[in-house]
Amino acid sequence: MNNTLFIDGQAVPFEAGQTIMDAALAAGIYIPHLCHKPGLTPHGSCKLCTVEVDGRSASACTLPASNGMQVANNTAALNEVRKTLTQMLFVEGNHLCPTCSKTGDCTLQALGYHFGMLDGHFPPFYPRREVDASHPTVMLDRDRCILCELCVRASREVDGKNVFAISGRGAQSHLIVNTASGKLGDSDLQAEDLAARICPVGAILSKGHGYEVPIGLRTFDRHSVAESDVATPIT
Ligand code: SF4
Ligand code: SF4
Repeated sequence: MNNTLFIDGQAVPFEAGQTIMDAALAAGIYIPHLCHKPGLTPHGSCKLCTVEVDGRSASACTLPASNGMQVANNTAALNEVRKTLTQMLFVEGNHLCPTCSKTGDCTLQALGYHFGMLDGHFPPFYPRREVDASHPTVMLDRDRCILCELCVRASREVDGKNVFAISGRGAQSHLIVNTASGKLGDSDLQAEDLAARICPVGAILSKGHGYEVPIGLRTFDRHSVAESDVATPIT
């Protein structure tokens, strides 16, 4: 059979040029991920989509599919590593879910539930990060930023504006706004831009719309992250 790979033993067809993630999403197979969105350049930074390909670790969002590939995805060992990565993302930022208007719509939180995470496990960093409320309709709370760069890519590749960037390295990495003042209010970001709507957590929020959908009726209150995140391209 040509152009077929196997994910946890299931035959999955793919087209030339597709990655493992592309093929999995098209087949309705969930590979956990945070920094990937179909239609944007794969980034491979969150590492949640790490799978084993013919016995070696690889990022499903960046590795091209090839014929006959054997991919291990939904295994206890891989999901334990993914749970640890999720816990690290929680403790590296300041995530207080009950006070966050993204709760129920947040992919990080949903992944915590998905992996059966009961606590952060690691000591919290409690970093001091800047909140930017200077924009009339969009709020930037870096406390919750997981540095996935979805807003960076969306602004550059879809909106054509280049509003956001990541500055610094390692533990010093942080999200910046590409204006002379560094303030969102001085950028040409609009609430309708993909960059303003794509944040998977509660770091970029629309002002004035926080509680329009009641808690209990939100995305991940109604569907698991595995059901909600399969094959949802950018809009
Ligand atoms: Fe919780 Fe998500 Fe808000 Fe962080 S961004 S506080 S994980 S709901
Ligand atoms: Fe990702 Fe949101 Fe941070 Fe942008 S603000 S890098 S979309 S978590």
